[in-house]
Amino acid sequence: MTDLPEVRGKLTPNKALSDLTWLRVGGPADWLFQPADVEDLQQFLAALDPSVEIFPMGLGSNLIVRDGGLRAVVIRMGRGFNHIQVDGTRVKAGVAALDGHVARKAAEAGVDLTFLRTIPGAIGGAVCMNAGCYGSYIADVFVSAKAVTRDGKLVEMTAKDLNFQYRQSDLPAGWVLVEATFEGPKGDPEELAARMQHQLEKRDATQPTKDRSAGSTFRNPAGFSSTGKADDVHDLKAWKVIDNAGLRGARVGGAQMSEMHSNFMINTGDATAADLENLGELVRKKVFEQSGITLEWEIKRVGEF
Ligand SMILES: Cc1cc2nc3c(=O)[nH]c(=O)nc-3n(C[C@H](O)[C@H](O)[C@H](O)COP(=O)(O)OP(=O)(O)OC[C@H]3O[C@@H](n4cnc5c(N)ncnc54)[C@H](O)[C@@H]3O)c2cc1C
Repeated sequence: MTDLPEVRGKLTPNKALSDLTWLRVGGPADWLFQPADVEDLQQFLAALDPSVEIFPMGLGSNLIVRDGGLRAVVIRMGRGFNHIQVDGTRVKAGVAALDGHVARKAAEAGVDLTFLRTIPGAIGGAVCMNAGCYGSYIADVFVSAKAVTRDGKLVEMTAKDLNFQYRQSDLPAGWVLVEATFEGPKGDPEELAARMQHQLEKRDATQPTKDRSAGSTFRNPAGFSSTGKADDVHDLKAWKVIDNAGLRGARVGGAQMSEMHSNFMINTGDATAADLENLGELVRKKVFEQSGITLEWEIKRVGEF
């Protein structure tokens, strides 16, 4: 790769991404860049050869990085990007702030962002993915975000710019989110704290939260019609169609569809990214053969095989 611009933050060559993903798989990134602050990020991107790919990464809780790694500069925000400020019912957070911390700080100030409490990522990933839980989504509370464009300009983005959809947004490739502002409903701090505690307990009882996973593997096949007729459209749960195909607990190498929640794919210890992706494709194939339903990946898969 061409020479990289000088930075105040940290540049690490050949960084193993298995260290930075929840599934603990993934080959190396050519470079990992951890900017010191927004200006450092802007200057780096403005000076970086435009042909070099960049990949912004949060906590890697929704990613399979393939075993060949990423021919790119992976950009990961840390300190300098983890502020949380509450002003009335508005909450401003840096992209490295953890979703759970933002929910807690907001609740202490009487603002209801409780749906974020059980999502294990950081705010950049939450905005990019329109993360959601218990019927609420980022799109419901989003006011605006700041992003740095691939050529280093700092821009403000509205909900219209991001065009949120189910578990996705239209954030342009190569743009790096740095901060987001939300507005939540008012709530009683004690009641919000109790609700979050209940949500945590419920999640631990129904999801394999102690295992290495990336959350839901596939989207729920919403709007599926078993007869092909418009008036027969109904929503289905991905875990249910996986169960119906007899795939709860299915394995490929060290990858397994969790016995606890059949739409969670887990690394049982020695899985490769290929094991995980092959297991996912096997599930898609068998579910299609059994029910005619095409499951769509919710986990993002990136990098070289
Ligand atoms: C146990 C478990 C439970 C989960 N439960 C839920 C749930 O209830 N609801 C839900 O929505 N998700 C859930 N997830 C999935 C995941 O936590 C969310 O999608 C989360 O928002 C991803 O955030 P992250 O920081 O880990 O992003 P990453 O996985 O690192 O990245 C996800 C995407 O966001 C992009 N991105 C990240 N940061 C930036 C940035 N600063 N600028 C631009 N792009 C960026 C990446 O390029 C990538 O495309 C769960 C995951 C696990 C492991």
